[in-house]
Parts: sequence; structure tokens; C-alpha cells
Amino acid sequence: MPELPEVTTIVNDINDKLVGRTIIEARLTSFGENLRVKSKQDLDQLLTGKKIEKAQRKAKYLLLKLSSGDNLVIHLKLTGQFILRDKSAKADEFTRMVLNLDDGKQLRFNDRNGAAEAFISENLEEIKDKVAADAFETDLTLFSKNLLSSDKKTIKETIVDQRIIAGVGNIYADEALFLAKINPSRGPKALTEDEQITLLDSIKQVLNEGIEHRGTTIDSYRDLLGNPGTHQNFLRVYGKGNRPCSNCSTSIEFTEINGRRTHYCPKCQPDNQLTLF
Ligand SMILES: [Zn+2]
Repeated sequence: MPELPEVTTIVNDINDKLVGRTIIEARLTSFGENLRVKSKQDLDQLLTGKKIEKAQRKAKYLLLKLSSGDNLVIHLKLTGQFILRDKSAKADEFTRMVLNLDDGKQLRFNDRNGAAEAFISENLEEIKDKVAADAFETDLTLFSKNLLSSDKKTIKETIVDQRIIAGVGNIYADEALFLAKINPSRGPKALTEDEQITLLDSIKQVLNEGIEHRGTTIDSYRDLLGNPGTHQNFLRVYGKGNRPCSNCSTSIEFTEINGRRTHYCPKCQPDNQLTLF
């Protein structure tokens, strides 16, 4: 499930390896029917012959800025991949769109479960309306204001809400709450100012660690060259249910909060504080 660090890693790789390359052919496979870039005419008109100028990230969206001024916008959702291969490399599973480049390489947009998005946008208004500032763009005043405006019952659901703080998903939310010693079930409006400061710092810290380790690969995330990240080897609580907490050796609890897998240490993150909602 690519979150901010994983998308940042792919964006950095594209800026390192693909700037100035021209797309010489774009096509959808039979798996690509649900994508919003639908027709051959669309693809030819919007992508073929265009140079890749740069890649950017907005929240969890990957934006490929083209020489036409348009952006190819990709959201990897749960299982999307954006991978650079030699054109002759063996097929990947679930490739939905293929972009052939002028140096004989091929960009493949793969997605197992079919929820990932690809579309062309000139001005990105559609994205700007959907997401809040990301963790690195958020200061304490904004964070505090957004927490108070949350319509969620718990702080866990609140920090994965892209309208509150963009780029954080299940993995980094659990990691940040553990680092901040805040129980994931607490109400978002009950945090003290000190806790808000610690939580925002912790979110930034875990995202930076994720970027440093080129992302977390639990399932299908891969970087631009198809390699897994390594941050899964550095996780503190996520995926560690029933294993001892690294701080206090208490068993890490695994639960679901409104359908979201959630991991926390009941001793380091006690739920004995006043919850105002
Ligand atoms: Zn603990």
C-alpha cells in the first residue's frame, strides 16, 4: 500500500532516470479498461511524442509532467506499481498500461486489484480539491485546526484521512502513534498541545525514515526499477501483533479500528486518558 515515502521514492527515481525521455508509444492492455485514459486516440493525442519533463508528488499522487503541459496522474492505491523495464523483459502480471520510451525501455503501470487510477490533467484542480497539505507542508497551527475539524471517532482514522493530513496510510499511522505514545483509539479532539506537537513530529520522522529506506514492501510495492523497499525491516509495531514491544516487551496488540488493521503497545500507548468527542 504505497504511502508518501513509497511515492516519493518512485518520483525521485523518475527524476533521476527519465527526465528528457520521449514516449514513443502508449497503449492499454486488456486489464486497462477501467483506467480513465481510455481510447487509443486519447493516448496518442495526450502521451505519444511527449517528453517527460519531471515527476512530482502531491499527497499520494504521482504526477508525470509532460512537454505538452499536461500531467499523467497516477494513484497507486493498494497494489499499483510503476516500473521501468527493458522492452524485451518478460511480462509482468496485471499490466494495465504500457509506455514505450525512445531509449528502448518500457514503463509499465501494473495493478493487481484494479483500484489504481491513471488520468491526464492539465491544471490538477481535481487533486487539489481532494487532499489537504501533506505532513511536510503542515505546521502545528494547521494540524491542530484540522484535528479539531475531524469527523472521525479515533486519532487513527483521523491521521489516515487525506483531508486532514495527506500521505499517511495504515503503516506509517501506526508507527507514528507508537512513537508518540498515543493510543490509536483516542479521540482526535482530546490530544493535548504537547501530544499534538509530538504526533506531528513523529509522523514526519516515520515518513522520513520510510523515504531513507526507499519505502516499505509488505506486499506489492516496488520502486521504479522493480526492487522492494527495506523499511519493513525497521518497523516498530506494524505487522508485529503478539510480538514483544521494543520499549517494554509487552505483547503488541493487533486490532481493527473501523476496518483498518491497527497495531499498538497497550503499555506504551495507554487508553486511560480523557477522551472528548
Ligand atoms: Zn511498549
